[in-house]
Amino acid sequence: MLLDMAVPAGVLAGAYFLVPVVAELPASVAGLKAYGAYIVIALAASVSLIFRRGRVVLALLTLALAYASYGPLLNDALESFRARTVFAALCIFVPFNLAALSLLEERGTFNLHGAQRLGVIAIEAIFTGWIVFAGKTATTAWAYSPLYETTLLAASPIPQFGLAAMALGFAVCIVAWYLKRAPIDLGFAGTVIAFGVAMNGIARPAVFAVFIAAGALILTIAVLHDTFRMAFRDELTGLPSRRDLNERMMGLGRRYTIAMVDVDRFKNFNDTYGHDLGDQILKMVARKLAEVGGGGTAYRYGGEEFTVLFPGKDVDAAVPHLEGLRRQVADYRLALRAAARPEKAQPVKRRRGAFRASKSESVTISIGVAQRNGKLATPEAVINAADKALYRAKRGGRNQVSR
Ligand code: GH3
Ligand code: MG
Ligand code: MG
Repeated sequence: MLLDMAVPAGVLAGAYFLVPVVAELPASVAGLKAYGAYIVIALAASVSLIFRRGRVVLALLTLALAYASYGPLLNDALESFRARTVFAALCIFVPFNLAALSLLEERGTFNLHGAQRLGVIAIEAIFTGWIVFAGKTATTAWAYSPLYETTLLAASPIPQFGLAAMALGFAVCIVAWYLKRAPIDLGFAGTVIAFGVAMNGIARPAVFAVFIAAGALILTIAVLHDTFRMAFRDELTGLPSRRDLNERMMGLGRRYTIAMVDVDRFKNFNDTYGHDLGDQILKMVARKLAEVGGGGTAYRYGGEEFTVLFPGKDVDAAVPHLEGLRRQVADYRLALRAAARPEKAQPVKRRRGAFRASKSESVTISIGVAQRNGKLATPEAVINAADKALYRAKRGGRNQVSR
């Protein structure tokens, strides 16, 4: 998690050091100063479109709108009513949008959901335009009214409402990230910060441009990170996927042990309790597998089969950990709540206490394990041997480790 945070933090730090460089750019490349941020936003949008991350496309659109406002609308040091209005609207709406996007599900770009979300951004822009053209000075004055009397925040041009929106938006994105562990939500949080720094530096074009570009760059990296995760993690269990296992197997040394793990009588379980509960079992088994210990890494091989790889370990070293794993799974009681029972078991009238009276179920796993040796020289051969051992474990009565 800390490693994940290093990426947006690194981009923000890099942006900080880039500002004086950009500010000093000679006139011959002045275009880069004006259009650099657009180039980064366009690249970010291309990557997001290719990977179908519609939420990021919209986040980039709000950044682009903010950036586009700079020249025509905001460049009079916030003296005019129009500039003050647009500035306040951006300070409030952009973090609001980023927070909202972090809470929404990914639903692509070119569809009804994308259009609805786009509509919200359009309404924000129209609302802002209306305040400007209708001369609603009271509304703008209200946006600048302090929430709290303090001289501490007076140095920033951002109205307190905007600061509150940014703080709240950042918090929402961080919580969303904490709950979903999705790099894109962390990217949204980093972008709120980048946007806040940009707005705070509105008087300095280089600060504004560099930090808007930094926001777009943070989002680009987040999209790539998210895509990488999708490729190498199993969606249901969160374990690394078979593709990851295959790559890891290419780099193994001369000593390693592989265990194949299979849930016992899982088809029965699925047929009795349904696929949803089956999925819950797989998640439970995966959680235990992830903590197998002994230096083992668990992968979802496919379906209800898992692989545990112990690099540098022989079978004798791995088996105690696998035994522990087997026991932990067997001891686990999955509570079957009334709602999860098959239809015919549903009580006609829902009585209080019905949930407490619910049953519990348990599942077991069988494990086959093999280590590399002279005869089993390739990972594929070791996996085959582990599979054969697994078959023996099944034949031997299941719920056991076989070698
Ligand atoms: P055995 O003890 O011999 O392993 O019996 P089994 O029923 O577990 O073996 P089998 O391989 O015949 O059945 C595996 C079943 O696992 C088939 C399918 O219904 C179920 N399954 C595979 N993948 C998933 C999944 O992602 N979710 C759920 N809920 N079920 C799955
Ligand atoms: Mg199976
Ligand atoms: Mg099975």
